[in-house]
Amino acid sequence: MSDQTQPDSPAAQPPADGEKMVFQAEVNQLLQLMIHSLYSNQEIFLRELISNGSDACDKLRFESIADSSLLEDDTELRITVSVDEEAKTVTVTDNGIGMNRDEVIANIGTIAKSGTRQFLDSLTGDQKTDAKLIGQFGVGFYSAFVVADSVTLVSRKAGESADQAVMWVSDASGGYTLNSAERAERGTEITLHIKDECKDFLNAYRLRSVIKKYSDHITFPIMMMGEVPPVPPAAEGDDEPAPEPQEARLEQVNAASALWTRPKSSIEDEEYQTFYKQVCNDYEDALTWAHNKVEGNQEYTSLLFIPKKAPFDLYDGNHQRNGIKLFVQRVFIMDEAEKLMPRYLRFVRGLVDSNDLPLNVSREILQDNKIIDAIRSASVKRVLGMLEKLAEKQPEDYASFWTEFGACLKEAPGEDFGNKEQVAKLYRFDTTHADKAGELTGLDDYIARMKQGQDKIFYITADGYQAARNSPHMEIFRDKGIEVLLMHDRVDEWMMSYLHEYEGKSFVSIAKGDLDLSAIEGVDAESDEEKAEKEKKAADVAPTIERIKKVLSDSTSDVRASTRLTSSPACVVMGEHDMALHMQQLLKQAGHELPSSKPVLEVNPTHPILDLMDNEQDDERFGDWAHLLLDQALLADGGQLEDSAGFVKRMNEMFLALRS
Ligand code: ADP
Repeated sequence: MSDQTQPDSPAAQPPADGEKMVFQAEVNQLLQLMIHSLYSNQEIFLRELISNGSDACDKLRFESIADSSLLEDDTELRITVSVDEEAKTVTVTDNGIGMNRDEVIANIGTIAKSGTRQFLDSLTGDQKTDAKLIGQFGVGFYSAFVVADSVTLVSRKAGESADQAVMWVSDASGGYTLNSAERAERGTEITLHIKDECKDFLNAYRLRSVIKKYSDHITFPIMMMGEVPPVPPAAEGDDEPAPEPQEARLEQVNAASALWTRPKSSIEDEEYQTFYKQVCNDYEDALTWAHNKVEGNQEYTSLLFIPKKAPFDLYDGNHQRNGIKLFVQRVFIMDEAEKLMPRYLRFVRGLVDSNDLPLNVSREILQDNKIIDAIRSASVKRVLGMLEKLAEKQPEDYASFWTEFGACLKEAPGEDFGNKEQVAKLYRFDTTHADKAGELTGLDDYIARMKQGQDKIFYITADGYQAARNSPHMEIFRDKGIEVLLMHDRVDEWMMSYLHEYEGKSFVSIAKGDLDLSAIEGVDAESDEEKAEKEKKAADVAPTIERIKKVLSDSTSDVRASTRLTSSPACVVMGEHDMALHMQQLLKQAGHELPSSKPVLEVNPTHPILDLMDNEQDDERFGDWAHLLLDQALLADGGQLEDSAGFVKRMNEMFLALRS
């Protein structure tokens, strides 16, 4: 047994002064990973600590709106970075909200966020990507150990007295020590004892350049000690007394300007990109952005970015994050202002700065607020407009956007009725018009290619590109050269249950309901003989169809002659409002109870198997044929057979029968 205490175990007593605590297992693992994975990107430790300091200042500024006494007489919030070459330390100090003892234990000794496990699992070994993940998961503080062999944090919470401070010390070897401490100022001071191999961080120039690079837009001043100006040598024969050596003073290193408040025309693309990376925590440039200042009835500025890559958990059911920060009159109010963007646009990052909201807004107030509603609906339009423009002007960038975020947009029809059409304009699908997967088309282009007399948009859903493309339902469309959209994303079936038309053209699944293509030019252009021939065939197979119907009465709702098939012997057709088979399958596997909907079996009157069956006197053999027809049709449609062994047995018997 160890005599150390696990801070996260429920039975643990609050640690006594000087008691050695062990890190939560995850913290340990994280530390080791971080130290090893970030060695070529060490400088980000400073960005992370400054960002924490800035958050702490934001929190204090926000709380002081309600209770101004928290600020005492220290009202200029700032972050200070200092270096001591002799002691080999770098210190980052803020006069923000600070932490009390419990908060230090909760925030710095454990990882409360459930995402940690996922974080660890998602590390790729690629340093750039992993560095980005560290930002996303908010495990920033521990990056101090990338450059430091020990870290001392002293913190005093705003509103508490000087002797209520707490000191946390760790050398990353598995635990930390807590002690009561004294601290004259409120806020947090973090001192890193820099490792020998990282001693270039003990250079003030280096630190300044790192601050400029990553933290220029932090809205609080970041201060460093300035250079002491050299004393000019006294001129010969000069009687003037030599000037006093000047004292070094703190100087502000960052520009600290709220970029979004500047006029658009004065901002370079490069500045937007740097801002994006700093504020939205991405290591890559943004794909595109929109910066808008709205004046009039309402006054606000929005700066909205589309990232290049989706965060790995964007499609997790419980992904609740939202990338929009809310500011009121340039004061940061909250992260993840979920009221500002609908869920299907959760990948958009950036900020909204309102001049109309009260400074003391809370999430509750935002719930039902006209100002917010108006900002939100205008912001949605902005994002959709920006994407439309991207699709038009930079189709390649749009294609990569679609790969990353298309599935998110597909959630829109179920969520945002009002913008359905505008979102649908952005959709891209595989199509029979192209030769291979990945050459996607939009709905406008589909419509432009529609045949004379065609007033519907035909599509098929399946669980893969090949399954869609080779589906028996496709045969008549292939024959007649009618384009079909190939939808093989999981959300497609669900999306289509909300999306009924686009530009006045209704969507029709080629695998559902009755199919009537007669109005389309070129479809009915059969010679009279061909027609007569077909009708004769249909009349010929009518008795066979009746026989099949009897055999399959339990598993089908009807059996009929098909107008869809030209080469396959049979296919199953779902009712117009039924769910596609492959979807039913998926939901069943996930344990959902579904009302059973029996498919219609359509058979191809021109197929030789039907002739064979027509001549089959043996009822048992005929039954086998009928089951084989249904089973193969189900398989081709992504369904699963209830009796797959029976299918294989029948098939083999048929093969053997060929011998005789
Ligand atoms: P994140 O900042 O993403 O939450 P960190 O590991 O960097 O993750 O910090 C964990 C928590 O510790 C923060 O959420 C915050 O509550 C607290 N914290 C870190 N640094 C400071 C600081 N300088 N002042 C006050 N609280 C801090």
